[in-house]
Amino acid sequence: MRKNIVAGNWKMNKTFSDAEELIDQIVVDMENKDLKCELIICPPAPFLEMASDYAEESRLKVGAQNINEHESGAYTGEISAPMLDSIDIEYCIIGHSERRKYFHETDEQLAQKANLLLDYGIKPIFCVGEVLEERENNTHFDVVKKQMEDGMFHLNSDEFSNVIIAYEPVWAIGTGKTASPEQAQEMHAYIRKLILEKYGKETAEEVSILYGGSCNPGNAKSLFSQEDVDGGLIGGASLKSDDFLAIASSFE
Ligand code: PEP
Repeated sequence: MRKNIVAGNWKMNKTFSDAEELIDQIVVDMENKDLKCELIICPPAPFLEMASDYAEESRLKVGAQNINEHESGAYTGEISAPMLDSIDIEYCIIGHSERRKYFHETDEQLAQKANLLLDYGIKPIFCVGEVLEERENNTHFDVVKKQMEDGMFHLNSDEFSNVIIAYEPVWAIGTGKTASPEQAQEMHAYIRKLILEKYGKETAEEVSILYGGSCNPGNAKSLFSQEDVDGGLIGGASLKSDDFLAIASSFE
């Protein structure tokens, strides 16, 4: 059975002490809930080691927000897969739309990042999604198909079984404009069909596909109740323990 997952993308928010306070609160709040999902936080890089120490003592899992596509070397300011591995990080977001837009990341680079993560036993959370114009032009399925093909489909099925997909329509990220449960389900079912055609039924049934884009405690239940929606990648609402845990409690 595939896993339900709720992952929090903190983006470039919090100071060290704020981060420690939030993680501490999440860990305490988790203890009081019988969550039907895996809970992951993806704080900024300087807080990953501290978060990883908390994860060792709790059920909380930790992911990074990005890595460089090279294993090591003269890439000032970047962080690498072996660095994450050395502090026991289990997940890493790649291909977030903000990285695609502001840092001009291509699917070819993302494919290299995925390879490195998997080499180091770290599970990629691979983000796909269309911009508003692409949805309005009715090219959103083609856009997502190309992102999947160019970024992920070079992997063999063993490798791919360690990948999590996050469908994040760019027009819904940080805008308060959520995809409807039907729109999310339609795209998730399409992504699962692409995976089925490439890797077969077993892999397609096992891969978790998360929805991201203005997900909050008020809409999480209707999104997560869709057959092919296995949880969420949460931005703004992951910055408060109450909201994050309310979202994580939204599985039937
Ligand atoms: C995100 O950045 O991955 C995201 C889903 O953000 P928000 O929940 O704030 O829309």
